[in-house]
Amino acid sequence: MNIHEYQAKDILKRYGVRIQEGIVAETPEEAVAAAKRLTEETGTGWHVIKAQIHAGGRGKGGGVKLAKNLEQVKELAGQIIGMQLVTHQTGPEGKKVNKVLVAQDVYYPGDSEPKEFYLSILLDRAKGQNVIMASTEGGMDIEEVAEHTPDKIFKEWIDPAVGLQGFQARKIAFAFGLEGEAFKEMVKFVTNLYKAYLDTDASMFEINPVLKTSDNKILAVDGKVDLDDNALFRHKDLADLRDLAEEDPLEVEASKSNLNYVKLDGNVGCMVNGAGLAMATMDIIKLSGGEPANFLDVGGGANAQTVEAGFRLILQDPNVKAILINIFGGIVRCDRVANGVVEAYKNIGTINVPIIVRLQGTNAEEGARIIDESGLKVFSAVALKEAAQKVKDVLATA
Ligand code: GDP
Ligand code: MN
Repeated sequence: MNIHEYQAKDILKRYGVRIQEGIVAETPEEAVAAAKRLTEETGTGWHVIKAQIHAGGRGKGGGVKLAKNLEQVKELAGQIIGMQLVTHQTGPEGKKVNKVLVAQDVYYPGDSEPKEFYLSILLDRAKGQNVIMASTEGGMDIEEVAEHTPDKIFKEWIDPAVGLQGFQARKIAFAFGLEGEAFKEMVKFVTNLYKAYLDTDASMFEINPVLKTSDNKILAVDGKVDLDDNALFRHKDLADLRDLAEEDPLEVEASKSNLNYVKLDGNVGCMVNGAGLAMATMDIIKLSGGEPANFLDVGGGANAQTVEAGFRLILQDPNVKAILINIFGGIVRCDRVANGVVEAYKNIGTINVPIIVRLQGTNAEEGARIIDESGLKVFSAVALKEAAQKVKDVLATA
């Protein structure tokens, strides 16, 4: 689960990681009030207005702007709130901005040597260890640094049995070329950051940039945090940070029915039990000349209700020209699924796209018979190849 920059910074602050202070606002008036409060609390006169969306690259897309007085705070907040922000991570349609973070300007005017670093922590699955990645090329896209100058990325792996050791935090501060007070600040920063990452069961923390000011303060200017969904039950407070407005509405609806759904761009909707079979089904759709409109795993216990919820979800996608249902009856019996399909079909009423149902496994013949005798516009197939051919046929006549 992704969270916003302002939420990530709240977490960092709780763990003693110094941050660029800010206050979130949903209207230009709130932004002005926030700026006034920040001036009182931090002494800052200038403010940065930062779009809060679940995507990086906001700066380049015009979602991060510097305001030198309160009029500009109001004007820029007005521009950014409500805008459709396009970055390299949002896709061409962009994302609507609902909130901004009004933050203190930490790049002191006249500061001749602010230095931007990159720091992230994530799980290295191949090694089975967390890895801290550090680079002196802060503020840049780390993917680009990795591609063009991989030697500028420093990696430190953490043994889970002993945790982050003091010498490792010092190695990172040393890799940044720091000394004196800034070195000490960085060691503290890395140590606290790692503690926050562990405690929150995060799968990624990315701070880009980490800023060193000319008076040797080290602070997080940005914060991208990805929390492990499977651990959220241990963190009620973190689970509450979820912002449904940032997620695909169909995916939100799917998660309410406990369906595993990912929206894609194609024209053939598919409903499958089991993630592996779902992927194989998507391959079959491609082989037969279609493009999958979604990934949908209805899980092991497919029944009339889950089938209906799945149908409704798929049908909300206007691109869908055909639906392929591919169920392997292992635990669940095919006749039960077939009855579920027929029932769901009747409940929904008008379904204008052809549906191909491929049932295999326990009571497959019985399932096929139920489908064939239902009198509905549903085609049954027993073999996967046959199902693929039928998808091809219905797409040709669609
Ligand atoms: P991102 O573009 O989504 O990664 O958003 P960031 O929070 O990283 O901000 C983008 C850029 O805005 C940073 O790399 C900085 O160069 C700039 N920026 C952020 N905060 C400040 C600030 O307080 N003052 C100034 N002058 N620039 C800032
Ligand atoms: Mn950033």
